[in-house]
Order: sequence, then C-alpha cells, then structure tokens
Amino acid sequence: MELERGAEREAEKETVSKNFIEQIIEKDLAEGHCKTVCTRFPPEPNGYLHIGHAKSILLNYGLAKEYGGKFNLRFDDTNPTKEKTEFVESIKADVAWLGADWEDRLFFASDYFEQMYEAAVKLIKKGKAFVCDLSADEIREYRGTLTEPGRESPYRNRSVEENLELFENMKNGVYEDGSKVLRAKIDMASPNINMRDPVIYRVAHMSHHNTGDKWCIYPMYDFAHPIEDAIEGVTHSICTLEFEDHRPLYDWVVREVEYEQPPKQIEFAKLYLTNVVTGKRYIKKLVEDGIVDGWDDPRLVSIAALRRRGFTPESIQKFVELCGISKSNSSVDYAMLEYCIREDLKLKRPRMMAVLDPVKLIIDNYPEDQIEYLDVEMNLENPELGMRKVPFGRELYIERDDFMEEPPKKYFRLFPGNEVRLMGAYFVKCVGFEKDAEGNVTEIHCTYDPETKCGSGFTGRKVKGTIHWVAAKTAARAEVRLYENIIDEEKGVYNEDGSLNLNPNSLTVRKDCLLEPALADAKAYDSFQFVRQGFFCVDAKDSCPDALVFNRIVSLKSSFKLPQNGNS
Ligand code: ATP
Ligand code: MG
Repeated sequence: MELERGAEREAEKETVSKNFIEQIIEKDLAEGHCKTVCTRFPPEPNGYLHIGHAKSILLNYGLAKEYGGKFNLRFDDTNPTKEKTEFVESIKADVAWLGADWEDRLFFASDYFEQMYEAAVKLIKKGKAFVCDLSADEIREYRGTLTEPGRESPYRNRSVEENLELFENMKNGVYEDGSKVLRAKIDMASPNINMRDPVIYRVAHMSHHNTGDKWCIYPMYDFAHPIEDAIEGVTHSICTLEFEDHRPLYDWVVREVEYEQPPKQIEFAKLYLTNVVTGKRYIKKLVEDGIVDGWDDPRLVSIAALRRRGFTPESIQKFVELCGISKSNSSVDYAMLEYCIREDLKLKRPRMMAVLDPVKLIIDNYPEDQIEYLDVEMNLENPELGMRKVPFGRELYIERDDFMEEPPKKYFRLFPGNEVRLMGAYFVKCVGFEKDAEGNVTEIHCTYDPETKCGSGFTGRKVKGTIHWVAAKTAARAEVRLYENIIDEEKGVYNEDGSLNLNPNSLTVRKDCLLEPALADAKAYDSFQFVRQGFFCVDAKDSCPDALVFNRIVSLKSSFKLPQNGNS
C-alpha cells in the first residue's frame, strides 16, 4: 500500500515537472491527433547560429528523442536575397556538434517550390486567393491599424479564371518586381492584422542558390512555413513567441490547402543572455567592422565561437536544461553558462600547471643540472585520470603576483623570509630577490627542504600558501588569451546613439606563458584546467605545434549561485 502510494506520488511529480510543450504533445498522442512525433529545426541560412538557436535545436531534438519520433533539419531558404552556401555548411556543423542527429532528413524548403506553387493554385481555385495590383505602399495603407479595420483591395473580386491566368503570368516572368502579388483572401476586418489578406507570393527576378533562375516568384514566410511542415509530416512546429499572432494564419493555410495531418504550431520564449550580443545584425557589424576576429571570435556566443572558446556540447545541453522552457521573455545571466562549463570540465579534465605572467625563481641549494620527475595526480578529485610526471629543477618560473617584496596582511604566498609549498613538490623559503633598473623583480632566490617532498608524509611543520610553478629548462611556451564580456556591463549594452558599448578589455593577450611540458602536444579543442587560473582550450584557428595558443574558457571562481527554483 505504502509502496503503491509512493509510486503514485512519483508519477504525479513526473507530470508536474513536464514542460508545457511536453504536455501538449502527450495530450495529442493520447487523443490520437498524431501517432508519432516529428519536430524540425528550420534555420534561415543567413548567418551563424548562436546560443539561442542551440536552445531551439536541443528542444526540438530532445522532444523527438523523448517520444521516439523524428527530428528534421530544414533550411528555410525561400528568400533568395540573403542566403549563402557558407552558412549552410556552418549550420550543419553546429547542429551536428551539439549532438542533434537529423539522420537522413536534411531538407531545403526551396525543394518544395513546386508544391507551394500548386498549393497557391489550389487556393485560387477555391476562391481563397487573388492577384493584387496594389503597390507595397498601397497595401500597407489599405491594411488599417490595430484600432481600425482594413479596406478591401479593388482587385479582391477578380474571377478565378483571371487570377489563374495572372498568377501563371507572374510565374512566367511577365511582370516586374513589385507590380503584382498573390494575396490570401481572408478578412480585412480581422482584429489580427496578419489575417487581413496577407501577401503569400511576390515577384522577384532573383537567382536562388538552389533553384537558380527557375523561379521569379517566391512564397512569403507565413505561407511557406506551414506547407514545409505539412510536407515533411512535422507534427509539432515549435517556434518563438513573436510568431504567436501568426498562428491563425498558419492554421488557415494548413486547413485551406487541406493537409490530412495538419501540423500544430507551438510558441516558446526566446533565450536572451545578459551583457551578450546574440542578434545577427549586431554580430555581423562587429565582424564587418573588424572588432572581432570573425563569426567564431571566442568573445561571441555564436555556437562556432563557443566551441572555439572551449565550451562542450554537454555544457550547452546542461545550460539549456537549466534555462527551462517558458512562455515569457526574460534574460539569463551569462554566469549560468559559465557555471555549466565549469561543472562539466571540473572532473573530466586534468589540472595542469601553467604560469601566465612568469618571474624566475632559483633554488640556491638544489643541484645545478638535476632534473627530477615528480609524480602528480592529474585531477585530485578524479583519481581515474591517473598520474603524470612533472619535471622539477633548480630554476623555475612562478607567477609574478605570487611574490611580494612588502606583502600586506594575510598574504600567504612568497615574500622575503616566508616559506610556501610548491605544488606537488617541496617547501621553499624566500632568501632574496633581484630587481632591474625600473624596479621590476627579475629573480627570486629560495632554498628548499628535501624532507618536505610532496607525498613523503612530512608533518614537521605547516605552510599557509601553495603556489604553482613550471621548471625553466623543460617548459613549453604558449600564447594565452584572456577574455571578458565584449559589452561593458557597467554602462549597459547600448550607447545613446544605439551603438554597442564595447568593453576595451574584452581581450588580453599574454605572449610568453610557460607551461609544463606535457602540454606541448595539446591539439586543437583540447582543454585543461590550469590550476588557480581557470579552464583553457587550444585555439583551433591560430594554434600550431610550434606556437601554441590557448583560450581561457572560464576562470575558476564565481559568485554565481544556481537559482533555488531552477528547473533542474
Ligand atoms: P536572429 O533573431 O538571431 O537573427 P532568427 O530567428 O532570424 O535569429 P532563424 O534562422 O530564423 O533565426 O531561426 C531558426 C530557429 O531558431 C527559429 O525556429 C527561431 O524561432 C529559433 N530561434 C532564434 N533565436 C532564438 C533564441 N534566441 N532562442 C530560442 N530560439 C531561437
Ligand atoms: Mg529569421
């Protein structure tokens, strides 16, 4: 009895935690509106995908998987002006990288132009569409406003025969761009402006990347999209909130074209991040103005940029999950994305030593030419990653700010007379230092205590500070790039003139960083923790074996706290 009730409660919890889209789908399946589930991701190939698209991709793919259905990748390439083949390739790469598998279902909306044309002819024959000679400006004028109804076009009552002939002429290139359009005949008095005889086909003498010069008429989005969904057998067509007012038109099209399995449109809120530019328009401008190094500059949140920076598909999946699905627009803190990548890499990646701002440390009492190989854990929290050998010698490099000539209170790192632990190695005590003419420290002198070797069980005395280091003789050299948000958070995203408020410190390049030698073989996209510094990834664009380049993915510390009411 108790058990049963427990199971009941579990089942209850499960239904409650389903998001509203899952609830719709389950109801449709239960009531027989559809037998299986088919979703799609329909990008327009006019730019690179960003983190917002990742949400849409993972949502659509996730639902298909959850209900044993299908997920299609479809390029919405009905608009011949902006589309580029370069974007088709980048989008395919990004979707695949995120782990969304479209199997053999890669589609192009432009492959359906013939069917769309036939659908339009069908509407004309049913008296549900007409050719209109009003100019774009006149159409706008006739459309009315939110408070006033529209006026009917003087061409609205053309006969079916005349409409068929004119539409065929449109297709055959008889008319100039903008001189005629095909409009759905719905209701000029509708409170929903989208239903006031919307344009569904326009004349445009333009080459299309897929169909070339075959067509000089192109369908409008609101007409094309439901047809694309219906042709593919999409059951749930998930889009973002701005299309909510277009849903009646979506439903009108699938009804009037008489599809047997009408797809259903469902809207959810777009993902926005704080202090980050996601809009294609702004990213394009940053790229074109040379402010960033292409669409994959690691400061951007395009998927290509996140990948180059060192984010993993798992971290983005986790992020999207935490964001949840909602019906109201809101912004998510960028720190949550950082939290997700930290959590993902924490146990998976080795913790290596790298000195980003080196100053030399000499151990006066260590044998001149000796190199000793110390055994160090790859990751203290994950023994499965095993051990590595780290060379140790008389001359080392440490971080410049791990030494102070005159330390403030509570500074536990190196200063004259103080003893610290060199991570994984020995205690060293500072016995002196040298400076150049400008007063910069050039060398720090220490003595070490052989009794204090890490792992030897030494308990004689304690030190308060542990610092990382790299042996001078065997060090690998690298350039390290440190990033901050590209937008100046303090000042807000936009200036008064609408330009972006750029953070001048968004990129810091450290040229001569020194790494432990095991890192010399790191390949593009390999990532590591550099102890005390953060997570770093080999840059896939600029790094080569002779000149390594690392991007900082994220630092180690954060004030970010997972929201208590998160959907985790
Ligand atoms: P942008 O506004 O950045 O230019 P878009 O909406 O024009 O993006 P599309 O290629 O038309 O880009 O979008 C493909 C799919 O991705 C659409 O279904 C769209 O609703 C969805 N999408 C776009 N931006 C977001 C976002 N910020 N959050 C969630 N889904 C999004
Ligand atoms: Mg778009």
